[in-house]
Order: sequence, then structure tokens, then C-alpha cells
Amino acid sequence: MSAEDFRLHGYALVDWIAEYVASLEERPVRSEVRPGDVRRALPDHAPEQPEPFEALLGDVDTVVLPGVTHWQSPYFFGYFPANASEPAILAELLSASLGVQGMLWATSPACTELETHMMDWLVEMLDLPTAFRSDGPGGGVIQDSASSATLVALIAARERATRGAANRRGVRDPLVVYASPEAHSSVEKAVRIAGIGSENLRSVPVDPGTLAMDPAALAAAIDADLAAGRIPAAVVATVGTTGTTAFDPVAEIGDICRRRGVWLHVDAAYAGAAALCPELRWINAGVEKADSYCFNPHKWMLTNFDCDAFWVADRSALVGALSILPEYLRNEATESGAVIDYRDWQIPLGRRFRALKLWFVIRHYGVSGLQAHVRSHVALAQEFAGWVEADDLFEIPVPHPLSLVCFRLRSGDDDNRELLDRVNDSGLLLSHTRVGGRLTLRMAIGGTRTESRHVERAWEVIRGLARGEAPAQMLG
Ligand SMILES: *Cc1c(COP(=O)(O)O)cnc(C)c1O
Repeated sequence: MSAEDFRLHGYALVDWIAEYVASLEERPVRSEVRPGDVRRALPDHAPEQPEPFEALLGDVDTVVLPGVTHWQSPYFFGYFPANASEPAILAELLSASLGVQGMLWATSPACTELETHMMDWLVEMLDLPTAFRSDGPGGGVIQDSASSATLVALIAARERATRGAANRRGVRDPLVVYASPEAHSSVEKAVRIAGIGSENLRSVPVDPGTLAMDPAALAAAIDADLAAGRIPAAVVATVGTTGTTAFDPVAEIGDICRRRGVWLHVDAAYAGAAALCPELRWINAGVEKADSYCFNPHKWMLTNFDCDAFWVADRSALVGALSILPEYLRNEATESGAVIDYRDWQIPLGRRFRALKLWFVIRHYGVSGLQAHVRSHVALAQEFAGWVEADDLFEIPVPHPLSLVCFRLRSGDDDNRELLDRVNDSGLLLSHTRVGGRLTLRMAIGGTRTESRHVERAWEVIRGLARGEAPAQMLG
């Protein structure tokens, strides 16, 4: 593509993006296509001849958009948000344009150093333990996802628990990992991939009221495994569980782990961003006792996917487990020991220049702008919870200190299932979980463009549908 055409098409695409963003509010959130619809709209074979860019952009409208669920809609209240922002979109474009591979410091020093610097900025912004800063034995790195962060944490824990033996001869020691049943599914996946095995993942009971891990039960489980000759390798505690934003008591868990030499990984994938605000930093109480910690700027810090921030208090086990230096990657900087080579901190070799997204987002909004976002979402959620609580048909089964409100009709699963379907048919998007075995709706408020009028409208629809009223024209 010539430079001239690139400018032309690039401007057209940016215009397209701006119009899309402006139109989000009018679009039903959930895609209504059926399985196979998108493929049926595509030609069977790749084009033999080059096609004009205009045709491509046109097909984005006709083929792709109908099959898109609009995660960036202000009416998207499902799962957790994956909020994107204009500065992050532009940084992503820049990253793609530079096209660097940041596997080694030497393969693009700015990619590594900007990343290290952003991770140190975040330590300060979130008031995380100074042990996570890169100027000591610890440090931070961007992973693609919290799932990868948990996996590398468990691999580091495995390395430490077996003193490197697992790396040399495979996992032969009876390693055990602990998490609550409310922990994310990526924990079990990581346990499998790390060769520890699902049967060696202990499900530690939770307090039925808060769904937080019971530390006494954790201590008892670890001690029973120790007595039986097994090796407790890691505990994964969650700060803000996916189902309900429950908070495991990290301080107590940390003491239990330290006394027994067990690695503590803290997964704050969603909730971690709340620590931008001093008044919400209670979520991280005890995190100074963790060996590793992660949160996802790609969920609630306006940095589009993918961007998980992961720290270790001591990098030696992580790098020890993942570092292999083949001849073709040897270089003076690595040998000098003066640089970080992030390939040793992650599963793949190659890595994108993702720090640009954080740099653009943090500078564009400033810390105060990011705090304002978090605060507004938390305030909207509290307001929403107040409306739900005041309505006799509904109940709120668990605490909702941040921006997720779990709620349900008192009447039972069938009614809740029907309500959820009807709400989602109306153009909003909510998702569900189970609390105490009962189907429960989740209202996660964290969209970049979600304002009070969107939450008010959502409640109007939910409330009306719960009473069998047909929704008025939902959107627009
Ligand atoms: C969303 C979530 C994850 C998974 O995040 P990915 O970045 O998609 O891997 C892990 N843990 C918790 C608590 C989550 O909420």
C-alpha cells in the first residue's frame, strides 16, 4: 500500500471508528446472529486478485458488525467490562505500526524500558508494595491476560517448591495448589498446564455470606497435606471474584502462606483498578505478603485488551523457571546482566509493545481522570443497588462494594432465567452467576461511556420486565 493510500484509508478507518463509537448507544448490545451466519456471508475462497480497501471496509459493516456484541456499549453490563478508550486505540495502532518484537531488551530497548517504567508507575498509582518495583529483586511485566499471569505464577511457585527439579525432570513431587471455589477457572487451567493436575487443586471452603475464602480451612488443608507428605506449592487468593467480587482475606492467607513457605499469588483481575482511589485501597490489605499479584488494565482501566499487569516480589523463581538462552539470542546486553529480557517472564518468546497503551492512557487521563472513572462506576453501582433493595420483588444476596451488583428476583431460578433473557432481548446486556446455588443476575457497571442515564434506563427496563410490562423502545 502506498503512503498516500495508507493516509487515505487510515483516515477513513479512523472516521469509521469515531462514527461507530458515536453510534454505540443506538445498537442493541448482543449480536443476534445464529451459528454459521457470519461464515455464510463470506466467500468460500480467498480472493485471487487484490481487492479495493473500500470493499473491505464495506464488508466490515455488512458482514462483521451484525456478528459483533458491542462490548463498548454504555449498555453493556455483562461479565466484567473490557473497556477500551481512544488513547488506547491509538496506542494500539502505533504499536502495530512499529511492529517491534520486545522479547529481549536488545531487540527494542524502548519496548522493555517503557514497560518497566509503566509497571513502576502503576505500583505507585495503586499504592502496591514497594517490593514489586523493578529496582529491587522484584518487578512487573505485562502479560496478555490474567490467565497467563496465574500460569506463570504457578510455574514460579513450582520452581520454588521443587528447587528447580520440576523443570529438569517434570513434576514428580506431590505438589498441591489451593484456591476457593469462587476462584477464576484460569486457576484450574493453570494447574493442569503446569503439570500439577486438577486433583491436586484443593477447593478451600468460603464463608457462605461473603463468599470469601475461610483462612482456618486453608490452614487446615495445608497442614493435612504437609502431614501426608505432600508439598503445598501455592495459594491463589482472589481480590474481587468473577462471580460476585468477593474478597479473600489476603492478610490472613498471607500469614498462613509465609509460615509454611507457600507461594501466594493474588488475582485482582477486575477489582485491582479500584486501588487507584485511596478510599478503595482496603481491597489490597495484606498484599505485601503476596509473592505475586496481577490485575487487568484491560478490564477497568480504559486500556483495551490485551493488558494484564503482573508483579513478583522476587523475580528469581520466575526467571529461573522460564529462562533458556539459545545461541541465536545471545547478546552483549543480556550477558552484562544490566537489562531485563521480558521473554524470561512469560510463556511465549515474542511480545508486543503493549506499554504504549498504558503510557497513552495514563498520560491522556492522568491519575485523577482514571480515579474519576472508577469512582463514577462505583457510585452508579451503589445507586443501582439502592433501587434494587427498595423493590420488594428483588433481593441482593452478597455485598457489592465496587461496581458489580448481584441481584435476583426472590421468586426463583425460572423467573430469573426468564427475566435475564427478556432483559437481554431488550437491547441491554447482563450476565449471571450462581450464589448459594441460586441463579443470580450480575450488573457490572464499568463501561468507558456508561453514565447515570444508562443505568437509570437499565433499571427501568429490568423493573418493568420483572412486572411483565413490555419495554418501551429501549435504546435511542
Ligand atoms: C476476568 C478474570 C480473569 C481472567 O482474565 P483474563 O485476562 O481474560 O485471563 C481471572 N481472574 C479473575 C478474578 C477475573 O475476574
